[in-house]
Amino acid sequence: MKDKIVVFTGAGVSAESGLKTFRDMGGLWHRHRLEDVASPQGWQRDPATVLRFYNERRAAVLAARPNAAHRAIARLEEKYEVVVITQNIDDLHERAGSSRVVHVHGEILKARSTALPERIYPLKGPAIELGDRCERGSQLRPDVVWFGEAVRHMDESEMHFSTASKVLAIGTSLSVYPAAGLVAYAPFSAERWFVSPEPQEIPRGYRFLEGTATAVVPPLVEQWLA
Ligand code: NAD
Repeated sequence: MKDKIVVFTGAGVSAESGLKTFRDMGGLWHRHRLEDVASPQGWQRDPATVLRFYNERRAAVLAARPNAAHRAIARLEEKYEVVVITQNIDDLHERAGSSRVVHVHGEILKARSTALPERIYPLKGPAIELGDRCERGSQLRPDVVWFGEAVRHMDESEMHFSTASKVLAIGTSLSVYPAAGLVAYAPFSAERWFVSPEPQEIPRGYRFLEGTATAVVPPLVEQWLA
């Protein structure tokens, strides 16, 4: 049986693909608080602005390419059972070749019915507009988890963390709960690494690897595959 590696990623793993992190987005969207464009209340107040925000993000995702860190993570499957648990809503892990990706905060390339949340539709183009409806007539919204909404696949993710022999956490400020709390489910026996370009408080039991994802992850993966 192969050893299991859980790779837990946040916005930082996609930063070098040109996608902005949460904090950078706050800068860009200074006219709107992130809570306003990423909450059910914001959607009720001003759905056009929310759709525009995600349409711009989606266009950026479609234009972006996986970077060396995404690709190295995919290569781990040559030797290990790998589960990527990501807070990201982009599809860069999938495009890099990872076969098992759990999106706890949803996926920007999918749309969801506002009235029937189980109705989820893949999107080919960059936009959802006001008036785009599901076949039952309800407005479509991005299939992403907003503040105050239930995070996806938590039980499954806890199980993967608790059965991992290695955990590699990359590019997350660990400020968005409950997803951030998953890192604590790794067993003490697991080798646990935390990658970030700037010193930050890291979870107990994790070893800190300072550097950007593309600088630090590929050599670590080479070592693990050797
Ligand atoms: P965050 O923006 O709060 O934190 C990003 C972290 O990445 C920081 O710790 C930063 O130091 C680090 N970082 C920056 N550049 C890096 C690099 N080159 N290599 C490695 N690390 C780097 O992001 P978060 O913790 O993921 O939480 C924010 C929420 O925003 C998440 O829920 C996520 O869904 C959402 N988000 C997603 C995307 C995306 O899908 N690409 C982008 C932005 C935000």
